[in-house]
Amino acid sequence: MKPFDVCVRGAGIVGRCLALTLARQGLQVALVAEIPAADAQVSSTGDVRAYALNALSVGLLRRLKVWDALPAHAVTAVHDMHIEGDAAGAGLDFSAWEQRVAELAWIVDAAVLERQLADAVRFAPHVSVVAAGQAAGEPAAALTALCEGKASATRSALGVRLERHDYGHRAVATRLVAEQPHLNRARQWFRSPDVLALLPLDAPEPGRSYALVWSLPDERADAMLALDGAAFEQALFEATGGACGALRLAADRAAWPLMLASAEAWSGAGWVLLGDAAHVVHPLAGQGLNLGLADVVALSRVIEQREPWRALGDEKLLRRYVRERSAPTWAMGRLTDGLLHLFSSPQPAVQELRNRGLTLVNRLAPLKRWLGSRALGS
Ligand SMILES: Cc1cc2nc3c(=O)[nH]c(=O)nc-3n(C[C@H](O)[C@H](O)[C@H](O)COP(=O)(O)OP(=O)(O)OC[C@H]3O[C@@H](n4cnc5c(N)ncnc54)[C@H](O)[C@@H]3O)c2cc1C
Repeated sequence: MKPFDVCVRGAGIVGRCLALTLARQGLQVALVAEIPAADAQVSSTGDVRAYALNALSVGLLRRLKVWDALPAHAVTAVHDMHIEGDAAGAGLDFSAWEQRVAELAWIVDAAVLERQLADAVRFAPHVSVVAAGQAAGEPAAALTALCEGKASATRSALGVRLERHDYGHRAVATRLVAEQPHLNRARQWFRSPDVLALLPLDAPEPGRSYALVWSLPDERADAMLALDGAAFEQALFEATGGACGALRLAADRAAWPLMLASAEAWSGAGWVLLGDAAHVVHPLAGQGLNLGLADVVALSRVIEQREPWRALGDEKLLRRYVRERSAPTWAMGRLTDGLLHLFSSPQPAVQELRNRGLTLVNRLAPLKRWLGSRALGS
Protein backbone atom coordinates (compact mmCIF):
# COMPACT_ATOMS: atom_id res chain seq x y z
CA MET A 1 0.00 0.00 0.00
CA LYS A 2 1.39 3.46 -0.89
CA PRO A 3 2.29 5.71 2.06
CA PHE A 4 -0.22 8.42 2.95
CA ASP A 5 0.32 11.79 4.63
CA VAL A 6 -2.48 11.21 7.13
CA CYS A 7 -4.45 8.13 8.16
CA VAL A 8 -7.87 9.09 9.60
CA ARG A 9 -9.34 6.18 11.58
CA GLY A 10 -13.15 6.27 11.91
CA ALA A 11 -15.62 7.42 9.26
CA GLY A 12 -18.15 9.16 11.51
CA ILE A 13 -18.98 12.83 10.92
CA VAL A 14 -15.75 14.04 12.57
CA GLY A 15 -13.52 11.58 10.66
CA ARG A 16 -15.10 12.31 7.29
CA CYS A 17 -14.93 16.08 7.82
CA LEU A 18 -11.25 15.83 8.80
CA ALA A 19 -10.42 13.67 5.76
CA LEU A 20 -12.17 16.13 3.41
CA THR A 21 -10.54 19.19 5.03
CA LEU A 22 -7.01 17.76 4.86
CA ALA A 23 -7.54 16.57 1.28
CA ARG A 24 -8.41 20.16 0.34
CA GLN A 25 -4.91 21.11 1.53
CA GLY A 26 -3.53 18.65 -1.03
CA LEU A 27 -2.60 15.98 1.54
CA GLN A 28 -3.04 12.30 0.64
CA VAL A 29 -5.49 10.85 3.17
CA ALA A 30 -6.44 7.24 3.99
CA LEU A 31 -9.84 7.02 5.70
CA VAL A 32 -10.19 3.75 7.62
CA ALA A 33 -13.89 2.85 7.84
CA GLU A 34 -15.74 0.01 9.53
CA ILE A 35 -17.83 -1.66 6.87
CA PRO A 36 -21.06 -3.02 8.46
CA ALA A 37 -21.49 -6.79 8.19
CA ALA A 38 -24.11 -7.90 5.67
CA ASP A 39 -26.25 -9.32 8.50
CA ALA A 40 -25.88 -6.24 10.81
CA GLN A 41 -29.07 -5.23 12.63
CA VAL A 42 -29.95 -1.78 11.27
CA SER A 43 -33.03 0.07 12.55
CA SER A 44 -35.70 0.47 9.88
CA THR A 45 -35.56 4.26 10.38
CA GLY A 46 -31.73 4.61 10.62
CA ASP A 47 -30.15 7.00 13.17
CA VAL A 48 -33.15 8.82 14.64
CA ARG A 49 -31.06 11.62 16.08
CA ALA A 50 -30.92 15.16 14.78
CA TYR A 51 -28.03 17.43 15.71
CA ALA A 52 -28.17 21.07 16.79
CA LEU A 53 -25.23 22.63 14.96
CA ASN A 54 -23.67 26.01 15.66
CA ALA A 55 -22.30 28.58 13.20
CA LEU A 56 -18.74 27.20 13.32
CA SER A 57 -19.90 23.68 12.40
CA VAL A 58 -22.17 24.93 9.62
CA GLY A 59 -19.29 27.08 8.27
CA LEU A 60 -17.05 23.99 8.08
CA LEU A 61 -19.73 21.92 6.30
CA ARG A 62 -20.31 24.82 3.88
CA ARG A 63 -16.61 25.02 2.99
CA LEU A 64 -16.68 21.27 2.34
CA LYS A 65 -19.64 21.82 -0.06
CA VAL A 66 -21.75 19.46 2.03
CA TRP A 67 -24.11 21.89 3.71
CA ASP A 68 -25.65 23.39 0.58
CA ALA A 69 -26.10 19.92 -0.92
CA LEU A 70 -28.34 18.76 1.97
CA PRO A 71 -32.02 18.40 1.01
CA ALA A 72 -34.19 21.23 2.41
CA HIS A 73 -36.29 18.87 4.56
CA ALA A 74 -33.15 17.70 6.44
CA VAL A 75 -32.23 21.13 7.82
CA THR A 76 -34.32 23.45 10.03
CA ALA A 77 -33.33 26.84 11.42
CA VAL A 78 -33.93 27.54 15.13
CA HIS A 79 -35.13 31.09 15.74
CA ASP A 80 -36.16 30.75 19.38
CA MET A 81 -35.40 28.53 22.31
CA HIS A 82 -37.48 28.10 25.46
CA ILE A 83 -36.02 26.40 28.53
CA GLU A 84 -38.36 25.53 31.38
CA GLY A 85 -37.34 24.83 34.98
CA ASP A 86 -39.23 22.69 37.46
CA ALA A 87 -41.20 25.44 39.21
CA ALA A 88 -44.17 27.34 37.85
CA GLY A 89 -43.08 30.29 35.71
CA ALA A 90 -39.30 29.57 35.92
CA GLY A 91 -37.88 29.72 32.43
CA LEU A 92 -35.32 31.16 30.06
CA ASP A 93 -35.89 32.33 26.49
CA PHE A 94 -33.32 32.90 23.79
CA SER A 95 -34.11 34.46 20.44
CA ALA A 96 -32.05 35.01 17.30
CA TRP A 97 -33.26 38.61 17.29
CA GLU A 98 -31.88 39.23 20.82
CA GLN A 99 -28.61 37.49 19.93
CA ARG A 100 -28.41 39.67 16.78
CA VAL A 101 -27.99 36.67 14.50
CA ALA A 102 -30.15 35.22 11.70
CA GLU A 103 -30.66 31.90 13.55
CA LEU A 104 -29.66 30.47 16.96
CA ALA A 105 -28.68 27.09 15.50
CA TRP A 106 -29.54 24.65 12.76
CA ILE A 107 -31.09 21.24 13.36
CA VAL A 108 -29.86 18.65 10.89
CA ASP A 109 -31.01 15.08 10.33
CA ALA A 110 -28.08 12.89 11.49
CA ALA A 111 -28.60 10.09 8.96
CA VAL A 112 -28.93 12.47 5.99
CA LEU A 113 -25.78 14.38 7.01
CA GLU A 114 -23.84 11.09 7.28
CA ARG A 115 -24.99 10.07 3.79
CA GLN A 116 -24.10 13.43 2.27
CA LEU A 117 -20.62 13.27 3.81
CA ALA A 118 -20.15 9.71 2.50
CA ASP A 119 -20.97 10.98 -1.02
CA ALA A 120 -18.52 13.87 -0.67
CA VAL A 121 -15.78 11.45 0.42
CA ARG A 122 -16.51 9.16 -2.53
CA PHE A 123 -15.79 12.01 -4.97
CA ALA A 124 -12.86 13.60 -3.06
CA PRO A 125 -9.68 13.27 -5.18
CA HIS A 126 -7.12 12.77 -2.37
CA VAL A 127 -9.11 10.49 -0.04
CA SER A 128 -8.82 6.68 -0.25
CA VAL A 129 -11.35 4.73 1.81
CA VAL A 130 -9.79 1.61 3.34
CA ALA A 131 -11.82 -1.10 5.12
CA ALA A 132 -10.79 -1.54 8.78
CA GLY A 133 -8.89 -4.76 9.60
CA GLN A 134 -7.73 -5.42 6.02
CA ALA A 135 -5.42 -8.38 5.53
CA ALA A 136 -2.99 -6.11 3.61
CA GLY A 137 -2.34 -4.26 6.90
CA GLU A 138 -2.92 -0.72 8.05
CA PRO A 139 -2.13 2.23 5.78
CA ALA A 140 1.28 3.77 6.55
CA ALA A 141 1.13 7.52 7.28
CA ALA A 142 3.14 10.23 9.04
CA LEU A 143 0.13 11.05 11.22
CA THR A 144 -2.77 8.91 12.46
CA ALA A 145 -5.87 10.87 13.50
CA LEU A 146 -8.20 8.80 15.69
CA CYS A 147 -11.87 9.67 15.17
CA GLU A 148 -13.25 6.31 16.32
CA GLY A 149 -15.78 7.66 18.82
CA LYS A 150 -15.94 7.11 22.56
CA ALA A 151 -15.18 3.35 22.43
CA SER A 152 -12.04 3.81 20.27
CA ALA A 153 -10.10 0.51 20.20
CA THR A 154 -6.98 2.13 18.72
CA ARG A 155 -6.88 4.63 21.59
CA SER A 156 -6.94 1.69 24.03
CA ALA A 157 -4.24 -0.12 22.02
CA LEU A 158 -2.05 2.99 22.42
CA GLY A 159 -2.51 2.61 26.19
CA VAL A 160 -4.44 5.90 26.50
CA ARG A 161 -7.09 5.69 29.24
CA LEU A 162 -10.52 7.28 28.97
CA GLU A 163 -11.29 9.06 32.24
CA ARG A 164 -15.04 8.72 32.45
CA HIS A 165 -17.95 9.40 34.72
CA ASP A 166 -21.05 7.42 33.79
CA TYR A 167 -24.21 9.33 34.66
CA GLY A 168 -26.37 6.19 34.98
CA HIS A 169 -28.71 7.97 32.56
CA ARG A 170 -29.65 7.25 28.97
CA ALA A 171 -30.89 9.52 26.22
CA VAL A 172 -34.01 8.18 24.55
CA ALA A 173 -34.31 9.60 21.03
CA THR A 174 -36.96 9.39 18.34
CA ARG A 175 -38.92 11.50 15.85
CA LEU A 176 -42.31 13.02 16.59
CA VAL A 177 -45.08 14.84 14.79
CA ALA A 178 -46.88 17.47 16.89
CA GLU A 179 -50.43 18.68 16.79
CA GLN A 180 -49.22 22.30 16.88
CA PRO A 181 -46.67 23.93 14.52
CA HIS A 182 -43.11 24.23 15.89
CA LEU A 183 -42.58 27.82 14.61
CA ASN A 184 -38.81 27.10 14.53
CA ARG A 185 -38.68 27.00 18.33
CA ALA A 186 -36.53 24.49 20.23
CA ARG A 187 -37.86 23.54 23.65
CA GLN A 188 -36.22 22.04 26.70
CA TRP A 189 -37.62 20.96 30.06
CA PHE A 190 -35.46 20.42 33.16
CA ARG A 191 -37.59 18.10 35.31
CA SER A 192 -35.35 16.77 38.05
CA PRO A 193 -33.64 14.44 37.14
CA ASP A 194 -34.98 14.23 33.55
CA VAL A 195 -33.98 16.59 30.76
CA LEU A 196 -36.29 16.59 27.76
CA ALA A 197 -35.54 18.43 24.52
CA LEU A 198 -37.64 18.86 21.39
CA LEU A 199 -35.69 20.07 18.34
CA PRO A 200 -37.80 21.41 15.45
CA LEU A 201 -37.59 19.52 12.16
CA ASP A 202 -39.34 19.64 8.80
CA ALA A 203 -39.65 15.91 8.15
CA PRO A 204 -41.70 13.78 8.06
CA GLU A 205 -44.23 16.66 8.29
CA PRO A 206 -42.99 20.17 7.42
CA GLY A 207 -43.48 22.67 10.25
CA ARG A 208 -44.72 20.08 12.78
CA SER A 209 -41.95 17.55 13.35
CA TYR A 210 -39.49 17.25 16.22
CA ALA A 211 -36.44 15.22 17.18
CA LEU A 212 -36.76 14.10 20.80
CA VAL A 213 -33.82 13.73 23.21
CA TRP A 214 -35.07 12.65 26.63
CA SER A 215 -32.40 11.83 29.19
CA LEU A 216 -33.60 9.72 32.08
CA PRO A 217 -32.12 7.50 34.79
CA ASP A 218 -31.43 4.02 33.34
CA GLU A 219 -34.44 2.25 34.92
CA ARG A 220 -36.87 4.95 33.74
CA ALA A 221 -35.31 4.90 30.27
CA ASP A 222 -35.90 1.13 30.15
CA ALA A 223 -39.48 1.64 31.27
CA MET A 224 -40.05 4.31 28.59
CA LEU A 225 -38.61 2.06 25.89
CA ALA A 226 -40.86 -0.80 27.03
CA LEU A 227 -44.07 1.27 26.81
CA ASP A 228 -46.24 0.74 23.76
CA GLY A 229 -46.55 3.67 21.35
CA ALA A 230 -49.77 5.12 22.80
CA ALA A 231 -48.51 4.98 26.40
CA PHE A 232 -45.18 6.58 25.38
CA GLU A 233 -47.04 9.40 23.58
CA GLN A 234 -49.17 9.95 26.69
CA ALA A 235 -46.04 10.09 28.91
CA LEU A 236 -44.57 12.69 26.54
CA PHE A 237 -47.73 14.73 26.57
CA GLU A 238 -47.59 14.84 30.38
CA ALA A 239 -43.86 15.62 30.51
CA THR A 240 -44.28 18.56 28.10
CA GLY A 241 -47.45 19.80 29.79
CA GLY A 242 -49.22 19.71 26.42
CA ALA A 243 -47.10 22.68 25.20
CA CYS A 244 -46.96 21.29 21.64
CA GLY A 245 -50.35 19.57 21.69
CA ALA A 246 -50.45 15.81 21.16
CA LEU A 247 -47.14 14.26 20.06
CA ARG A 248 -47.25 11.27 17.71
CA LEU A 249 -44.34 8.83 17.28
CA ALA A 250 -42.90 8.94 13.75
CA ALA A 251 -39.90 6.57 14.14
CA ASP A 252 -38.42 3.80 16.28
CA ARG A 253 -37.07 4.71 19.72
CA ALA A 254 -33.35 4.27 20.45
CA ALA A 255 -31.25 4.99 23.55
CA TRP A 256 -27.65 6.05 24.22
CA PRO A 257 -25.79 5.74 27.57
CA LEU A 258 -24.57 9.13 28.84
CA MET A 259 -21.20 10.05 30.29
CA LEU A 260 -18.70 12.84 30.83
CA ALA A 261 -15.32 11.63 29.59
CA SER A 262 -11.93 12.78 28.41
CA ALA A 263 -8.92 10.81 27.18
CA GLU A 264 -5.94 11.26 29.53
CA ALA A 265 -3.80 12.37 26.54
CA TRP A 266 -5.01 13.75 23.22
CA SER A 267 -1.79 13.47 21.22
CA GLY A 268 1.63 11.82 21.07
CA ALA A 269 4.33 11.22 18.47
CA GLY A 270 2.49 10.48 15.21
CA TRP A 271 -1.05 10.32 16.64
CA VAL A 272 -3.86 12.64 17.69
CA LEU A 273 -7.43 12.25 18.99
CA LEU A 274 -10.50 14.18 17.78
CA GLY A 275 -14.24 14.18 18.52
CA ASP A 276 -15.78 11.64 20.89
CA ALA A 277 -12.53 9.64 20.87
CA ALA A 278 -11.01 12.56 22.83
CA HIS A 279 -14.00 13.85 24.84
CA VAL A 280 -17.67 13.08 25.53
CA VAL A 281 -20.20 15.49 27.06
CA HIS A 282 -23.86 15.13 28.07
CA PRO A 283 -26.11 16.05 25.09
CA LEU A 284 -28.24 18.49 27.11
CA ALA A 285 -26.53 21.47 25.48
CA GLY A 286 -26.29 19.82 22.03
CA GLN A 287 -22.53 20.43 21.86
CA GLY A 288 -20.72 17.05 21.44
CA LEU A 289 -20.48 17.12 17.66
CA ASN A 290 -19.90 20.88 17.63
CA LEU A 291 -16.83 20.27 19.83
CA GLY A 292 -15.65 17.52 17.46
CA LEU A 293 -16.03 19.75 14.40
CA ALA A 294 -14.19 22.55 16.22
CA ASP A 295 -11.37 19.99 16.72
CA VAL A 296 -11.32 19.45 12.93
CA VAL A 297 -11.10 23.20 12.26
CA ALA A 298 -8.29 23.63 14.82
CA LEU A 299 -6.17 20.63 13.75
CA SER A 300 -6.44 21.41 10.05
CA ARG A 301 -5.40 25.03 10.71
CA VAL A 302 -2.42 23.92 12.84
CA ILE A 303 -1.35 21.54 10.03
CA GLU A 304 -1.82 24.16 7.31
CA GLN A 305 0.21 26.77 9.23
CA ARG A 306 3.09 24.44 10.24
CA GLU A 307 6.68 25.37 9.45
CA PRO A 308 7.78 23.83 6.10
CA TRP A 309 10.37 21.63 7.84
CA ARG A 310 8.02 20.29 10.52
CA ALA A 311 6.72 16.71 10.05
CA LEU A 312 2.98 16.05 10.28
CA GLY A 313 3.43 13.68 13.23
CA ASP A 314 5.68 16.05 15.20
CA GLU A 315 4.60 16.02 18.86
CA LYS A 316 5.19 19.76 19.27
CA LEU A 317 2.95 20.51 16.31
CA LEU A 318 0.15 18.32 17.66
CA ARG A 319 0.44 19.92 21.10
CA ARG A 320 -0.53 23.26 19.49
CA TYR A 321 -3.85 21.67 18.57
CA VAL A 322 -4.32 20.19 22.06
CA ARG A 323 -3.55 23.56 23.71
CA GLU A 324 -6.17 25.28 21.56
CA ARG A 325 -8.89 22.71 22.17
CA SER A 326 -8.50 21.57 25.77
CA ALA A 327 -9.78 24.70 27.59
CA PRO A 328 -13.06 25.20 25.64
CA THR A 329 -13.78 21.47 25.76
CA TRP A 330 -13.12 21.29 29.49
CA ALA A 331 -15.37 24.34 30.03
CA MET A 332 -18.24 22.77 28.05
CA GLY A 333 -17.88 19.53 30.04
CA ARG A 334 -18.06 21.46 33.33
CA LEU A 335 -21.04 23.51 32.14
CA THR A 336 -23.14 20.53 31.06
CA ASP A 337 -22.15 18.56 34.16
CA GLY A 338 -22.90 21.51 36.46
CA LEU A 339 -26.32 22.11 34.88
CA LEU A 340 -27.18 18.44 35.16
CA HIS A 341 -26.28 18.33 38.86
CA LEU A 342 -28.00 21.61 39.59
CA PHE A 343 -31.21 20.44 37.95
CA SER A 344 -31.18 16.91 39.36
CA SER A 345 -30.78 17.86 43.00
CA PRO A 346 -33.97 16.99 44.93
CA GLN A 347 -33.19 19.50 47.73
CA PRO A 348 -35.87 22.20 47.97
CA ALA A 349 -33.27 24.97 48.58
CA VAL A 350 -31.35 24.02 45.42
CA GLN A 351 -34.60 23.72 43.50
CA GLU A 352 -35.59 27.24 44.51
CA LEU A 353 -32.14 28.62 43.70
CA ARG A 354 -32.00 27.07 40.21
CA ASN A 355 -35.46 28.29 39.26
CA ARG A 356 -34.76 31.81 40.56
CA GLY A 357 -31.45 31.68 38.67
CA LEU A 358 -33.22 30.87 35.41
CA THR A 359 -35.67 33.72 35.88
CA LEU A 360 -32.86 36.12 36.83
CA VAL A 361 -30.72 35.23 33.79
CA ASN A 362 -33.82 35.69 31.65
CA ARG A 363 -34.00 39.33 32.80
CA LEU A 364 -30.30 40.09 32.27
CA ALA A 365 -29.98 40.73 28.55
CA PRO A 366 -26.14 41.07 28.39
CA LEU A 367 -25.56 37.83 30.37
CA LYS A 368 -28.10 36.05 28.20
CA ARG A 369 -26.38 37.32 25.04
CA TRP A 370 -23.01 36.12 26.38
CA LEU A 371 -24.38 32.65 27.24
CA GLY A 372 -26.06 32.48 23.83
CA SER A 373 -22.86 33.43 22.00
CA ARG A 374 -20.96 30.60 23.78
CA ALA A 375 -23.54 28.05 22.53
CA LEU A 376 -23.57 29.58 19.05
CA GLY A 377 -19.83 29.03 18.69
CA SER A 378 -19.28 32.71 17.90
C1 LIG B 1 -28.89 11.37 21.95
C2 LIG B 1 -27.75 12.24 21.52
C3 LIG B 1 -28.00 13.48 20.97
C4 LIG B 1 -26.95 14.30 20.56
N1 LIG B 1 -27.23 15.54 20.06
C5 LIG B 1 -26.22 16.35 19.69
C6 LIG B 1 -26.49 17.66 19.18
O1 LIG B 1 -27.64 18.10 19.10
N2 LIG B 1 -25.44 18.44 18.81
C7 LIG B 1 -24.15 18.01 18.92
O2 LIG B 1 -23.22 18.78 18.59
N3 LIG B 1 -23.87 16.77 19.40
C8 LIG B 1 -24.85 15.94 19.79
N4 LIG B 1 -24.59 14.68 20.24
C9 LIG B 1 -23.17 14.22 20.30
C10 LIG B 1 -22.74 13.59 18.97
O3 LIG B 1 -23.59 12.52 18.65
C11 LIG B 1 -21.31 13.08 19.04
O4 LIG B 1 -20.48 14.02 19.67
C12 LIG B 1 -20.77 12.81 17.63
O5 LIG B 1 -21.59 11.88 16.96
C13 LIG B 1 -19.33 12.27 17.70
O6 LIG B 1 -18.88 12.07 16.39
P1 LIG B 1 -17.54 11.25 16.13
O7 LIG B 1 -17.38 11.21 14.64
O8 LIG B 1 -16.45 11.77 16.98
O9 LIG B 1 -17.83 9.78 16.70
P2 LIG B 1 -18.87 8.66 16.20
O10 LIG B 1 -20.12 9.29 15.68
O11 LIG B 1 -18.99 7.69 17.33
O12 LIG B 1 -18.14 7.97 14.95
C14 LIG B 1 -17.04 7.11 15.14
C15 LIG B 1 -16.84 6.30 13.86
O13 LIG B 1 -15.66 5.51 14.00
C16 LIG B 1 -15.93 4.18 13.58
N5 LIG B 1 -14.99 3.28 14.29
C17 LIG B 1 -15.01 2.92 15.60
N6 LIG B 1 -13.97 2.12 15.87
C18 LIG B 1 -13.26 1.98 14.71
C19 LIG B 1 -12.09 1.29 14.35
N7 LIG B 1 -11.39 0.58 15.25
N8 LIG B 1 -11.64 1.38 13.07
C20 LIG B 1 -12.30 2.13 12.15
N9 LIG B 1 -13.45 2.79 12.44
C21 LIG B 1 -13.91 2.73 13.71
C22 LIG B 1 -17.40 3.95 13.92
O14 LIG B 1 -17.94 2.91 13.14
C23 LIG B 1 -17.98 5.33 13.59
O15 LIG B 1 -18.30 5.41 12.22
C24 LIG B 1 -25.61 13.85 20.69
C25 LIG B 1 -25.36 12.59 21.24
C26 LIG B 1 -26.42 11.79 21.66
C27 LIG B 1 -26.11 10.46 22.27
